[in-house]
Amino acid sequence: MTFVRVAKSGTLSLNEKTQEIENTGRPVYRFGFGESPFPPTQRVQDALRGAARRTDYTAVAGLPELRQKVAAFHHEVDGYPITAEQVLIAPGTKPLLHNIMRAFHRAAVYLPGPSWVSYAPQARLASHEVTVIPTSYECRWRIKPAQLERAFKGAGGADREKLIVLNYPGNPDGLTYSRAELEALTVVLRKHGVWAISDEIYALLDHRGGHVSLAQVYPERTLVTTGLSKWSGAGGWRLGALILPPDAPGELREALVGLGSETYSCAPAPIQVAALSAYELDGETSTFLEAQRRILRAIGSVVHCALVACGLRAHAPQGGFYLLLDFSRFAEELAERGIGNDAQLCDRLLTETGVALLPGDAFGMPRAALTARMAYVDFDGQAALRDADRIETTATKHAAKMLDGIRALGNWLNQPDSNR
Ligand code: PLP
Repeated sequence: MTFVRVAKSGTLSLNEKTQEIENTGRPVYRFGFGESPFPPTQRVQDALRGAARRTDYTAVAGLPELRQKVAAFHHEVDGYPITAEQVLIAPGTKPLLHNIMRAFHRAAVYLPGPSWVSYAPQARLASHEVTVIPTSYECRWRIKPAQLERAFKGAGGADREKLIVLNYPGNPDGLTYSRAELEALTVVLRKHGVWAISDEIYALLDHRGGHVSLAQVYPERTLVTTGLSKWSGAGGWRLGALILPPDAPGELREALVGLGSETYSCAPAPIQVAALSAYELDGETSTFLEAQRRILRAIGSVVHCALVACGLRAHAPQGGFYLLLDFSRFAEELAERGIGNDAQLCDRLLTETGVALLPGDAFGMPRAALTARMAYVDFDGQAALRDADRIETTATKHAAKMLDGIRALGNWLNQPDSNR
């Protein structure tokens, strides 16, 4: 084969397929694509407008004043010291994650199953060996220290660097790790000298504002990625940030800047200027964050209750805007309908009900486990923000379309034998 094998990211493909069905005029329940429903604040939008004349290339690592701002912001929010020198800015965290992978030579990469769609393809593009550490519904999709110990002990090639990617609050599970859980994992990570990429892109959307960064408990080898895509509703603006460990090897930093310079050059200058405004940790930003958390908590709870009422297994979300649905209880009934894996399940659901979910397989789950990710962002974020003060009593109204979709899902799942 002459060309590198890399499939289009599962989330983007589903979005296109959903769009095709919608174009035919049929109703579609958009649970597939996880895009923030909240627009950036007016101040941040104005800052972007005002920066339209910034046509310059900035330094690869980003504007010094933005690196300073991001360091100060996360120092304040996460409660551990960060300097501007530790921060690299890029057009989104996806290229940062890609370049971090590329900065290591033939490493052993460990991913929890489930974990976000792009980690494994990016690791394979960088010629790393990928090991999925499976989790289960019963252990809340969390990896346990004993599992890590077993995985690292069994690893061949002591010369290979070990890398693990954690993402919490998680996509696709919506769950987080407590400080105690992180500390227990850290004992094993430290023992085996593992590099940790902590993808904390949903950290500021922890529904109770209680996120603990892995860099607080494992500062020496944690690379934190974050950015504007989720908490500032600006995924398409493309602004990501990496926080390196304070004593990161010079070669790692140089490799990342070198890779950045040979791929994206820099994050767009106007976006970096707007980000200066987003990373202003004042009352406006705090109110915006608190409102989003409150809304996602209330809507997440309403959606979760409706799913449980359909007979599905799912854990109540703790952060971000996803739920991982476990259809395994329906395995027999689904098998009778010719559905034996998650891809068939999502395909049939989309064509027969217009409900768009992403199969767990895209997140490293076994196909036969019959899991699928639901993003609960199909609501008017602007309207919900106006209602934030009383969202607990109005969440059902805001989530009305999604509740219709869950009803369609429940009817399809629980349809009597005679209809099959
Ligand atoms: N990491 C996770 C867990 C995500 O869900 C996403 C986007 O969906 C990304 C990274 C990529 O974010 P960005 O827009 O910063 O590239």
